[in-house]
Amino acid sequence: MTDPILIAGGGIGGLSAGVALARAGFPVCVLEQSDTFSEMGAGIQVGPNAMRLLEEWGVAHLVMAYASVPEGIRVYEALTGELLNTVPLGSSAEARYGSPNVVIRRAQLQKCLLESAWTQSNLEIVTGFRLKGYESHEDCVEVFDAFGTRRRGRALIGADGLQSTIRATVHDRQPETIGKTAWRTSVRTADAPETFADPYIGIWMAPYGHLVHYPVDAGNEIDIIAVIEDTYHFDGWGADGDPDDLLPHFYNWDRYPLAFLEELPDWTKWTLFAMKPMDPWGRGRVTLLGDAAHPVQPFLAQGSAMAIEDAAVLADEVRKSPSDLPAALRSYEQRRMRRTARVQDASHRLGQIYHLAGVARLARDAVLRRRKPMSLLARYDWLYGYTTTAPSPASTADAGRGDEVEGSTRTSAIT
Ligand SMILES: Cc1cc2nc3c(=O)[nH]c(=O)nc-3n(C[C@H](O)[C@H](O)[C@H](O)COP(=O)(O)OP(=O)(O)OC[C@H]3O[C@@H](n4cnc5c(N)ncnc54)[C@H](O)[C@@H]3O)c2cc1C
Repeated sequence: MTDPILIAGGGIGGLSAGVALARAGFPVCVLEQSDTFSEMGAGIQVGPNAMRLLEEWGVAHLVMAYASVPEGIRVYEALTGELLNTVPLGSSAEARYGSPNVVIRRAQLQKCLLESAWTQSNLEIVTGFRLKGYESHEDCVEVFDAFGTRRRGRALIGADGLQSTIRATVHDRQPETIGKTAWRTSVRTADAPETFADPYIGIWMAPYGHLVHYPVDAGNEIDIIAVIEDTYHFDGWGADGDPDDLLPHFYNWDRYPLAFLEELPDWTKWTLFAMKPMDPWGRGRVTLLGDAAHPVQPFLAQGSAMAIEDAAVLADEVRKSPSDLPAALRSYEQRRMRRTARVQDASHRLGQIYHLAGVARLARDAVLRRRKPMSLLARYDWLYGYTTTAPSPASTADAGRGDEVEGSTRTSAIT
């Protein structure tokens, strides 16, 4: 029997790659270190660029059973409570990009991908296998765990997340903390004040901190994420957080959001990391995918979407050169490096814009107030209009604006 393509990591990226490769007809084996799939993780946005692929893979209808479709992004000045502008999403985004922008809990998206994976007879999922290392041969790759259990495959895809073991074997670059911590809690929509209960993503910007909230669980709950600047360091996704450490960061905020924050219990927190784009992503029959290849700061809400796009391009390249997998993997990397580096950069810039202080903050707010809402959405064309096959009109139009978006904070998506 043909050796499978091995995928280390059964997160959003690993499962997406598994589904995409299996649908393209290749035997695949996903090796996940955990014994069970984690329920952890906040709500994550799945932009139209990723929803289009989930539709193609027959996963989107599963996603829609849990997802919320926010009407737009309301952007507030947190110190005064002023609503500066609203980026239309909902039907506007769906009409413009052909697929909706949805919010879903990470664990629910993982469950949908798993459900799809289980229907693929050529896809095996092995839990409790923590890859410790691998041996690369001319015609295969052999992986092993700490107990000496070995598996052989035609190629190895490192989808093992932010603290990737496989990345360390191809590059010495490691993620670094960015001096920001994300705090998360959730509340029943029925218990939230009006502005927070509305079916919108809300972003409240202030110097040195911001707040994001969005509907999850088909609108029944709201996830609240507060991001502050500090030196806390934790390598996981959910340490307990004491509100007494969080609330002082918002002492000068408008009373309306602050009063809501003061009522919220059960915070968890995690450290935010970033990594400069790296090259190469792999060698021979080994490559990386998702956070292992290009950790993305969360401010553009594209971490999962980039992993899903990676998976689609990987499957496309393997389908084109099934008998020369090293060449297929290098072509995949070449097609993904520029795009993911741009998203990494844009996410970083957006995080800076949210926390502007002084005159820069006033200038940002003035620009935001006078923008037409649809023009704010149009600034995401390069992101949401991207297709993994032929360039869409939106992404083609963007080609001439590439330097503009990458070149200055003034031109990032929000302003
Ligand atoms: C438990 C968890 C909670 C998260 N919560 C959030 C959140 O609240 N907000 C947010 O923005 N992002 C969150 N993320 C990250 C987000 O899912 C990713 O940024 C994005 O989906 C890209 O996914 P990925 O598959 O590349 O990486 P990940 O989602 O991190 O998946 C990596 C997978 O690889 C597995 N793995 C790691 N090392 C090995 C190994 N040596 N052998 C085998 N398997 C291995 C991990 O267990 C994990 O399942 C979370 C990730 C995890 C794992």
